[in-house]
Amino acid sequence: MLAKDGLAQVEPWTEDLSGTVTAHPLSSVRMGDNPATSALTDLHELRGSPGLFITDGSAVPTSLTVNPSLTIAALAERATAAIISRTRSAGIAVRDGIPIPGR
Ligand SMILES: Cc1cc2nc3c(=O)[nH]c(=O)nc-3n(C[C@H](O)[C@H](O)[C@H](O)COP(=O)(O)OP(=O)(O)OC[C@H]3O[C@@H](n4cnc5c(N)ncnc54)[C@H](O)[C@@H]3O)c2cc1C
Repeated sequence: MLAKDGLAQVEPWTEDLSGTVTAHPLSSVRMGDNPATSALTDLHELRGSPGLFITDGSAVPTSLTVNPSLTIAALAERATAAIISRTRSAGIAVRDGIPIPGR
């Protein structure tokens, strides 16, 4: 679908990982400073859709070439303050902090 719609060049699978191949697809809705190349702001908010935050692997700016899950989790945690701030500015009360299990 990506190739057919001219969105990406899809290469056949290869065991040679020295090139541009990744086993961890990322960055399909990436964040960044430039609206021309990044759908999300640097705080994970979708441009043109205030209040819609994307914090999964798709938000990672580019291929990491290493296992990505810790980076994805760290970026999601980093986005939390902006999500809370945006929610509060919409007049919605938000409780801050990490819930302690069992309480
Ligand atoms: C076999 C395999 C091995 C891997 N090994 C490693 C590794 O060793 N180290 C590493 O760092 N990374 C590894 N990865 C990559 C890592 O798992 C992913 O990059 C990471 O989990 C992506 O995180 P994510 O939050 O973007 O998406 P996901 O972890 O895929 O989370 C998406 C979540 O959304 C849920 N969901 C989907 N649709 C809906 C819906 N409609 N409503 C509600 N929920 C929905 C899914 O059930 C899922 O829980 C591996 C991946 C695979 C497939």
